[in-house]
Amino acid sequence: MFQYDLVVVGSGPAGRRGAIQAAKLGKKVLVVEQGKRVGGVSVHTGTIPSKTLRETALNLSGWRERGFYGRAYRVKDEISADDLRRRLLITLDHEVEVLEHQFARNRVQHIRGKASFVDPSTLEVVKEDGEVIKVTAASILLAVGTKPFRPDYMPFDGKTVLDSDELLELEELPRSMVVIGAGVIGIEYATIFSALDTAVTLIDPKPTMLDFIDKEIVEDFTYQLRDRNMKILLGTKAEKVERLDNGKVELLLDNGRRLVTDMVLFAAGRMGATDTLNLPAAGLEADSRGRLKVNPETFQTSVPNIYAAGDVVGFPSLASTSMEQGRIAARVAIGAVAKEPPKYFPYGIYAVPEISTCGLTEEEMKERGIPYECGIARFRETSRGHIMGLDTGLLKLIFSLKTRRLLGVHIVGEGATELVHIGQAVLNLKGTVEYFVENTFNYPTLAEAYKIAGLDAWNRMGDIKSEL
Ligand SMILES: Cc1cc2nc3c(=O)[nH]c(=O)nc-3n(C[C@H](O)[C@H](O)[C@H](O)COP(=O)(O)OP(=O)(O)OC[C@H]3O[C@@H](n4cnc5c(N)ncnc54)[C@H](O)[C@@H]3O)c2cc1C
Repeated sequence: MFQYDLVVVGSGPAGRRGAIQAAKLGKKVLVVEQGKRVGGVSVHTGTIPSKTLRETALNLSGWRERGFYGRAYRVKDEISADDLRRRLLITLDHEVEVLEHQFARNRVQHIRGKASFVDPSTLEVVKEDGEVIKVTAASILLAVGTKPFRPDYMPFDGKTVLDSDELLELEELPRSMVVIGAGVIGIEYATIFSALDTAVTLIDPKPTMLDFIDKEIVEDFTYQLRDRNMKILLGTKAEKVERLDNGKVELLLDNGRRLVTDMVLFAAGRMGATDTLNLPAAGLEADSRGRLKVNPETFQTSVPNIYAAGDVVGFPSLASTSMEQGRIAARVAIGAVAKEPPKYFPYGIYAVPEISTCGLTEEEMKERGIPYECGIARFRETSRGHIMGLDTGLLKLIFSLKTRRLLGVHIVGEGATELVHIGQAVLNLKGTVEYFVENTFNYPTLAEAYKIAGLDAWNRMGDIKSEL
């Protein structure tokens, strides 16, 4: 009766993982993507571009070597926007090629066009050449993601006042930059540009930032940013933003301060990309931020055959979690068993320095009344840290005093987003402080910090085994 078992709208992490999962289980699947190439925000304007930009910035600036050669050390004296773009284009090509190959190998059909609902089982797709087709499906997975929030009071011009999508089209690197929004995206770009010698000011109306991260980690991170001269103005907002005749931008803050800068990056929020889906035709409604409500276990919307996954359903809005959500949604949609993922997933912030975290923060331990002990290791205590010239970097482990289980791992510093997975495994496999004390770690590695932090906690907790 239907043309497809599953039609997926959007080819980002949630959409492509959902589509491939259903196809692997023998279902007929179509992906509709309005963008020029498959991959979604993740490949074209979000995760991969920002991480490629970061890697290029760190390599060309010689950032990682400065511990040895001093703050003035540079690999390339004049880094241009072109230098950054070159590596980006090569990386994106590789990413898209892999995705297209995955679709072909798994027999996932995909068409380019904008989808909107005709009824709960029918979508109209407007192709690039204007042709309109209709597709029907037993189930529909909405994986349409988000787009930058662009308030009317911001004089966006794509050159001096930009959103995070436009940043990738930069023609020249700014000497100074104001980033509005101290969320993950704002912080990542602020610190990347600061590593490129741009004088960065980060502003946010909230008095604190990264509230979901362990406070001690945020304090260490903030110290490092201020130490390299980044201005962080929290608890203040830009009341007026104006482009000046001399090509600069002026910001008037609510505390009376005036900032003049080469460029403003507005990174304060994103909206679910649901405005063109004609949701009422399917009996659906988005919230004020364009997000869709779903059952958090099945990703089913209020309309039984329509599922939504990825950023369009809100927190945590990560490529990593979106993939899992897409996979689960597709399995439920086609009637396959879908196991809930482990409770604790890692959160990575690819700022300079990186932050990564999994499990409970010290603040959450206190709130929940769980007696705990912490173990801390600084990367400069490890031999690998000496070899790499690291004078920063911190790993913090939190253990329950009652069960001795690891309940939180929090890292700021080089390689944090990779290192966190050791802690994540121990945490989800219900490991205790003894794991770190009794196991051998490769030497010299940064992972050795786990042993140091484990021993630090163990020393304070006492050796239960020897007491028995
Ligand atoms: C600057 C930035 C940095 C990020 N860094 C990280 C990171 O380091 N790690 C991480 O895990 N996450 C990161 N994220 C978040 C990550 O990119 C998202 O969580 C992820 O892309 C969400 O995937 P998704 O499948 O929900 O949708 P998206 O990747 O947003 O893709 C949605 C797709 O749907 C298409 N679409 C929308 N409407 C329609 C329609 N009507 N018809 C057809 N197609 C449509 C869009 O064109 C788009 O291609 C970052 C995001 C940004 C913006």
